Amino acid sequence: MTRIAFIGLGHMGLPMARNLLKAGFPLSAHDLVPEAVAQLAGEGARAANDAHDAVQDADVVISMLPASRHVESLYLGDDGLLAYIAPGTLVLECSTIAPDSAKKVHQAAGKLGIDLLDAPVSGGTAGAAAGTLTFMVGGAAEALEKARPVFQAMGKNIFHAGPAGAGQLAKVCNNQLLAVQMIGTAESMALGVANGLDPRVLAEIMRQSSGGNWVLERYNPWPGVMETTPASHDYEGGFMSELMAKDLGLAQETALASGSSTPMGGLALHLYRVLLRQGLGKKDFSVVQSLFGAPEE
Ligand code: NAD
Repeated sequence: MTRIAFIGLGHMGLPMARNLLKAGFPLSAHDLVPEAVAQLAGEGARAANDAHDAVQDADVVISMLPASRHVESLYLGDDGLLAYIAPGTLVLECSTIAPDSAKKVHQAAGKLGIDLLDAPVSGGTAGAAAGTLTFMVGGAAEALEKARPVFQAMGKNIFHAGPAGAGQLAKVCNNQLLAVQMIGTAESMALGVANGLDPRVLAEIMRQSSGGNWVLERYNPWPGVMETTPASHDYEGGFMSELMAKDLGLAQETALASGSSTPMGGLALHLYRVLLRQGLGKKDFSVVQSLFGAPEE
């Protein structure tokens, strides 16, 4: 059976690794937070002492880290992990990072005979827990075929976006659109409620009308409209605003490089920066609702 090393057991990594264990893959795990590793060890994973220990004997290495700098320092730093990974091993880099950063890691891995794919995901923590994530994959099609059974244990839709870095490009476009939908939904919810509409009724009308979108289907930012969303739990868990700000920054950098015009993405970035300055960076990105008015406690 394919042996997997999983590095980065945060909001997304932990439930993804759990699904691999459930599918029967032997798995070694590492995170800088020992409690996360201990939790997974209690469910059958081997608790690695560090990242180098985790990848020993692994056929597949998966990383799910916050941002480009974490990924580059893990794989390329002075004591970078790539030097400890055997040629022929498959590396699935699932974090959302800059497309250029992904290309850099691809290139270094390729020189060592390691098959690497950039494979960022969509679907949120609920999709990670349910094993229904979407993977947007950049890299060689043959490597994707080798990785498919592993992706299938964690996700439902697996797309080959193109060559190295293409998965990250698709992800950046998707998250820019997600932020714009979230902000638009939040301001419409606030507008309706300020004028006397019941938030649940308004949410359902818009969901089934021409304003319907993924946020209204699964992730309403108004507390109490959907019982299981972060909005109904003081905006805890989910996808942190600081990570959304990072992704919107990547979208702006990408747009600058290609001369593309992305005014909605630019405005979204600035609204998320306001939230960060308000100390809300660790809250779920639906906390953008608070900029437009949120319900009384
Ligand atoms: P998170 O901050 O909850 O988890 C990141 C984990 O990486 C943490 O547990 C941290 O301790 C660990 N870590 C950092 N550096 C490390 C290192 N050098 N070695 C080992 N562990 C290290 O973040 P998350 O919400 O799980 O997101 C992870 C990635 O997935 C991000 O790039 C994010 O943009 C992306 N993403 C998140 C969501 C979501 O809904 N949360 C959805 C899609 C994509």
